[in-house]
Amino acid sequence: MLEKTLVIFKPCTVQRAMIGEIFQRFERKGLRLAGLKMMQLTEDLLNEHYAHLSTKPFFKRVKDSMMMSPVVVCCFEGVDAIAVVRSLAGPTNGRLAAPGTIRGDYCMSYQDNIIHASDSPHAAVEEISRFFKPEEIFAYRQATFDYLYANDEF
Ligand code: ADP
Repeated sequence: MLEKTLVIFKPCTVQRAMIGEIFQRFERKGLRLAGLKMMQLTEDLLNEHYAHLSTKPFFKRVKDSMMMSPVVVCCFEGVDAIAVVRSLAGPTNGRLAAPGTIRGDYCMSYQDNIIHASDSPHAAVEEISRFFKPEEIFAYRQATFDYLYANDEF
């Protein structure tokens, strides 16, 4: 099914000047860019976004790391995009992530692990509306669409 998912290029990625290189992986995969912006995250927004971590000892540290610089937030669309982007990202701990995944190739950290990616259809819908206004999500047709998928794949 055609899905949208949210990706955040974390402060570590902005500071290490690796957005372009990693962004290209999503483009080359064939995902359609539906939304893109730079923003400074706030404690309020992170309390919502990382609510599932609120009882963890590292909660404050993770939030602080997400506010250390602006981030770049993207919405990508594709067939099964949520699972596809999670598999491109690799597991949370960069030291355990396999080579070939984004976290496996570009980081050494559990916390500073390059990108956030929505982990379920429910989370994707919630996160896209948390970070983007409706008019910031664009529905243009991808010129390469007919070459990315067979007719029965979407
Ligand atoms: P993911 O980002 O892979 O979906 P989680 O939702 O579990 O993982 O955690 C959100 C973020 O919190 C992670 O990306 C990472 O930055 C941080 N985090 C999670 N678990 C740990 C941990 N054990 N130690 C340090 N940071 C962590």
